[in-house]
Amino acid sequence: MASRSPSAARAATSRPPTQLSARRRPPTTPAARRSGTLRRERYPGRPRGRYLSLGAGVQSLCVFLLACDGEIPPFDAALFADTGWEPKQVYAQLDTARRIGARAGIPVLTVSNGNIRHDALKPESRFVTMPLFVKNPDGTRGMARRQCTGEYKIKPLKKAIRQILGYPHPTRVPRGVFVDQAIGISNEFHRAKDSDVNYTRNIFPLLDLGLSRSDCLTLLQERGMGTVVKSSCIGCPYSGNSRLRFIRDTDPHAWADLVEFDKAIRHGSPRANANGKPLRGQFFIHRSLRPLDQVDLDATRGTVNADEDDPDGCSPFSCRSGPPATTP
Ligand code: SF4
Repeated sequence: MASRSPSAARAATSRPPTQLSARRRPPTTPAARRSGTLRRERYPGRPRGRYLSLGAGVQSLCVFLLACDGEIPPFDAALFADTGWEPKQVYAQLDTARRIGARAGIPVLTVSNGNIRHDALKPESRFVTMPLFVKNPDGTRGMARRQCTGEYKIKPLKKAIRQILGYPHPTRVPRGVFVDQAIGISNEFHRAKDSDVNYTRNIFPLLDLGLSRSDCLTLLQERGMGTVVKSSCIGCPYSGNSRLRFIRDTDPHAWADLVEFDKAIRHGSPRANANGKPLRGQFFIHRSLRPLDQVDLDATRGTVNADEDDPDGCSPFSCRSGPPATTP
């Protein structure tokens, strides 16, 4: 797909010039340096398309708007991997993105590999672990291995790209057949990783432009997106008290759903239990190893506390990668 130049694309929109150029800094990031000779050897020829991995949170929405406004080359499509259990605000953000994208000629497509909440509770479903907190039999705290990002986000995105290229699994994708896949990471170089497959070449427009997360927030405000909520499963154990309070206070239905889920996973996967291979220990959403409806989420309000804030949302290919502890 041919790319418009940023200036031509900008001229084609009615939007006034932005402050982007004032924020632009030289691309001296590791990701930018990686775009040299080594990458040319791994990805010979030209990409067969340009796609955005849209998590629908702050950074990927920022990349999306930059493309819609012609500040960076457009995408053939933005792909949203839906776990089926995002906050309603994230789905609203996605709807807004769809409307903006429709005007700019960039479709937002949803891909999915099931509903993470339903699957986690059904004995007959596949066993995919979330990074739940584990109270081991000796009372120590651990964390279950995180398989959910790969299963519910990365897998459907890879499947979609293979289909777009015309090489669905298990067909081998020939060398030199690839697309560019943009990932919304800003000033977190350690999360910018090369793709593990040769049919997608990861690119990081925010790193290349030198835009920080707060730049993204400003840009989203400037363009009328209002307050953007982090994209993450409602039941993600990486949620700090501030996020849990937000769910509790803005969406009572989602909160009740989450409390019920927290109770239901106390003894691990229903599938493992049904198979006669119960996991040892007890499982919790909250890092305090207490039932969610017994945690005082307001105790840390306004304080700097490990329980208060959560790291950035779980976007595909850049999901949090804290030290995973395997289940006992
Ligand atoms: S947001 Fe959390 S629960 Fe959802 S896929 Fe990512 S790590 Fe798993």
